[in-house]
This record gives sequence, C-alpha cells and structure tokens, in this order.
Amino acid sequence: MPNPTDSQISAPIVAKFGGTSLADFQAMQRCADIVINCPQTSVVVVSASSGVTNLLVELSRATLSDAQRQQALSQIEQIQQQIIAKLTLSEQAQEQINHLLAQLSDISEAIAANPSAQLTDKLLSFGERLSSTLFTQVLMANGASAVLFDVRDVMRTDTSFGKALPQVDEIKPLVVSRLLPLIKDNIVVTQGFIGADASGQTTTLGRGGSDYSAALLGEALGAAQINIWTDVTGIFTTDPRITDQARALSEISFNEAAELATFGAKVLHPSTLVPAMRTNIPVFVGSSRDPQAGGTMVRNRTEHQPVYRAIALRRSQTLVTVTSMDMLHAPGFLATVFTILAKHNLSVDLVTTSEISIALTIDSTDNDSSGRALLSDELLSELNQVCQVTIEENLALIALVGNKIDSSYGVGTKLFGALGDVSVRLICHGASQHNLCFLVADDVASSVVSRLHHQMFQLEDGAVS
Ligand code: ASP
Ligand code: MG
Repeated sequence: MPNPTDSQISAPIVAKFGGTSLADFQAMQRCADIVINCPQTSVVVVSASSGVTNLLVELSRATLSDAQRQQALSQIEQIQQQIIAKLTLSEQAQEQINHLLAQLSDISEAIAANPSAQLTDKLLSFGERLSSTLFTQVLMANGASAVLFDVRDVMRTDTSFGKALPQVDEIKPLVVSRLLPLIKDNIVVTQGFIGADASGQTTTLGRGGSDYSAALLGEALGAAQINIWTDVTGIFTTDPRITDQARALSEISFNEAAELATFGAKVLHPSTLVPAMRTNIPVFVGSSRDPQAGGTMVRNRTEHQPVYRAIALRRSQTLVTVTSMDMLHAPGFLATVFTILAKHNLSVDLVTTSEISIALTIDSTDNDSSGRALLSDELLSELNQVCQVTIEENLALIALVGNKIDSSYGVGTKLFGALGDVSVRLICHGASQHNLCFLVADDVASSVVSRLHHQMFQLEDGAVS
C-alpha cells in the first residue's frame, strides 16, 4: 500500500477516521489495516460510527416520547452489537461498553426531564466514546499494542457547549505530559469531537469536529502529518454529484483548501486547517475504503499553482440589500449598517457596495438553516430605521478557488462565457487572490457549476494537478 507520507520522517502521524470509515466491523478492519501498514501512525482519532451522532442529537430532544427514546437507544446499541459480534472482546472492554450504554440511557432520561446544553454535550460524547473503545479492540485483535485514551484529559476547551473553543495554549502542555509518553510503545486511540472545560465538564466542538480534533492533537504533538481518512478519495475539483467530470486533486495549498472548506466543500471541517497551517503540518485526505487510490495532500506550498483549482457551491444563501438615498456622499453608512449587524451577532459573508446601497450575504455556516432565519424582527426594524431593506432567498453561492484569480488574464471572459444568460446577483472579485465568488438562483446553480467546471478544467490543459 502506498504510504501517504511525503518525506523521510520520524515524528508521529495522527490518523483520523470518519463515521463511515467506522460504520461496521469490516469498515473498522480496513482502518486497522491502514494504521498497521503505516507504522508511524501513533495517534488515532475517531468519529462516532456513522449515524450514531444523529441518533444522539435525536435523543437530546426533550420532546421525544418514551417509545422514540427507547428506539433511538436500541438503534445505537445495535450498531455496537453488530461490531462486537465479530470481535472477541476482553471482559474489561465488554464492561466498558455495557457501562457506556447504561450511562447513555440514564443521561437521555435526565435530558427528557430537565434539558440543558451541558447534558446535551455529555450525551453527544457517547458516539465517539463507544467507537474509540471498539476500535481499540479491533486494533488489538490485529495484534497491535493499542491503548484507549480519554481525549477530555487533554482537549481543554471553554464552556460554550455545542461549539466549544479549544484552548490551544493549554492543550499543548497537557498533550505533552499525558498523551505523548504513551505513544512510545502504543498506538493511542482517542476521540474526536469532544473535549472538557477547566472544571472537567464534557464539551463538543461542533458537528463534524473530529477533523479539527485531529489537527489540534497533531499540532500539540508536533506531528509529521495528519491523515484524514474518509469515504472519498480526497478533495475534488467540485462535488462529483454535480458533474462526473469532477476529479480528485493530488495536491492543494492550505489557503486554497481553507477557501474551499469555507465556501461549502464538505470534505474537511472548516477549522481543521487552522492548526495545520499554524504549525505547517501537511494534511492528507484519502478514502479508507480505497487507500490504494491515493488522495489529496494539503500543504503550505504546492508544486503547481494553477489559476483554477476547484469550484465550491453553497446553497441556501440569503442576500440582504440595504439602500438609503440619505447616504449619498454622507460618510458612515457602512459603519452604521455593520454596527447594527454586529450588535445582533451576525457575521457577514460577502459584501458589495454602491454609493447608496450595500448588498451582503449572511454567514450561516454554523446553522443548518438559511441566513434568513438569522434575520430577527428586531434586527430588521433597526435596519429599517436607517435604510430600506430587501431580502432575497433561494440563492446559491459559487466560489472559484485557485491562485492569482484576482490578477489573471481572462478569468472574467471564461466566467461570463460559462454563465451564458444566467443572471448573477452579486459578484466578489479582487479581495482575495484565491477566490472569486458570485450568487445565482439556486435552481440553476448545479448547471452553472457544471458548465464552469467544463470551461475551467476540461478545456484547460494542466489546470488540475
Ligand atoms: N461525530 C460527530 C458528528 O457526526 C463529529 C464528527 O464526526 O466529526 O458530527
Ligand atoms: Mg466529517
């Protein structure tokens, strides 16, 4: 099997396996092979088995009936039992699993009686705690010397339940004193997604946060590389569900990958690259189903810097246009509008301005709903006091990601050539050399991406690395 490392290195490798990679016993066995075939892998970070976190979220709803609660619990148990059935568990591991399942049932009951963000995070932590216990056993069954490590001993966060902020300065010394000594003789298996605040309360880093956990641990360990094993063979030129011409990239720079993650590519959690960039640790993304197929290497400097690397698509965008004739030549309009938005804790994504109006989109990446849901009545009435407000929904944001897009010859011609008669609601070009973004109606977005992809990659020799 090709070892996805790019140099002769002796620092540890952190491997992270996502939910689909750990969905059942066969999937876990494939991950065990990957770990064992790459002896530099010292720390393994796991997600919950596929579907388990969704069931836990379901369980955290206080409105659940008793029967629904029992059903969700038994589905979670079944996922574990199907894996256990293929394993000879040590007595201790069997006890751990039983104990976790019993605790989970108790906490779900407690939430039904008295819901809180604190209990919800505790409940959500069980997916990773179960999968890490079982994956340790799978590694041991394969003859590896594996130990289970509770990441809450080192993953220090603040107390913002549901989206806790890792305290990087505290994590590093904790990792060095508590986790690092274990990797000398063992493969350490630990949980993604979860952490603990200073008083030991369990927290979570937000959905999909296991990638971020792996990067934070990699940073604290001074890892040689962070390998993110998922169900796709790397980062693609665009979502392969949109066009069958999409292909996996062999390399992409940190900056480009960060843009892609921010603008909707789902492969990596958007925060993942922050610790990797800070410490310049390459991140490999590959498929645990097909490790031979290679994957994408994300690193500081890539061999090629093509103008067009990839296209991202983010749906459910809301465009807010604020207009005020009074603001003609008057200073401070932008400041007034942004102060109101900041007061309501809204983060703005894209902005274009004219003399009397501002068009902007609301950043709703942390919300499953569209930006519209974030525009409260109070906010709108405050805005209405200083300007007219128009809201447009059902828009999609398309981002072209690459290098020197701001200054390369012919970008506009290509873009407008591919757009044909599709109308563009807003376009942002020039603020970053790595992206060009625009909004179109949601129902034409896929075909625009498809045409653009053809225009930028199929007709362009060597555009894709
Ligand atoms: N299990 C968590 C989730 O489903 C974290 C992760 O998988 O990264 O969101
Ligand atoms: Mg994920």
